[in-house]
Amino acid sequence: MGFTLQGQSIAYSMLEHYLNLGAPPLLILHGPAGVGKFSSAEWFVQSALCETGNACGRCPSCRLFLKREHPDYIQFPEDRILIGDEKQPAPFTVRWLLRTRLQYPPFKAARRYIVFPRADLIQNEAETALLKTLEEPPEHSRFLFIVEDLELLKETIISRGVSVPFHLIPGSDMAKLTNQNDHYLLDLMGGSLELSGIVLDQSFSQLREKIEDGLAHPMGLHELEVFVSNEKNFQEWRERLDRSYEEILDLIGLMILKSSERLADFPEIADTIFRFKAGIHRRMAGMTHYYLAQLFTRIGRILFA
Ligand SMILES: [Zn+2]
Repeated sequence: MGFTLQGQSIAYSMLEHYLNLGAPPLLILHGPAGVGKFSSAEWFVQSALCETGNACGRCPSCRLFLKREHPDYIQFPEDRILIGDEKQPAPFTVRWLLRTRLQYPPFKAARRYIVFPRADLIQNEAETALLKTLEEPPEHSRFLFIVEDLELLKETIISRGVSVPFHLIPGSDMAKLTNQNDHYLLDLMGGSLELSGIVLDQSFSQLREKIEDGLAHPMGLHELEVFVSNEKNFQEWRERLDRSYEEILDLIGLMILKSSERLADFPEIADTIFRFKAGIHRRMAGMTHYYLAQLFTRIGRILFA
């Protein structure tokens, strides 16, 4: 395949997963500048459009893509994105996209891909118009938003998408900074020194052990479920990280993902975790425990049935 994403194993495994199973309507690639978000988005789109699915570089679709002429790839400029004139919207405005592209099926491929390299520069009205589209996304079009900091996007946008985290700091620097060479930890910290406070903590290694246990035998999985389902167990993390229980669960999902990387059933487990993440991302009141129960039932079935 020729594409490797240095030190971004979570982002890479998520993108690969969605290449195999089809992308959700909106992927949000977030993380600091210069860590491969844009090249990952390009690789993702090229692979999705490629006739052999691996960004081969030789098929007609890849050749068009590499010449930047693929009709089903729309890359917005790294600039302010406006709603556009009501009557005659200029190219690369949101009205232009909606009226001259999204209304119609793709030209060549099964799906069209639309990339916003600076999703944070989508202006207010334009964002509102896009949001309507994202609420009922056309089956034939997929969006990729790139942003340095998720907090620059509206919560309503974030909740429509699946976020793909990229590292803040290269693993090697992170290793030096935290005096760590455990890749499990370095990947999870995502280069974030904010998280490293938790990751290096005793309670974190305990949870990690519980996860390893849970992946090893049914009783361990049951204990893990009981532990994770009790919100009180994460009170201290929540305070220290200033995150909601759902955000903490998202992190725990990534821990389970990392811990199962070496297992033969990894693809099924990854799929289950991504479905869980998508579920808790919707932030539907009262549903968190339902999604948690579903997650553990599915993992149990995959590993021990
Ligand atoms: Zn190709």
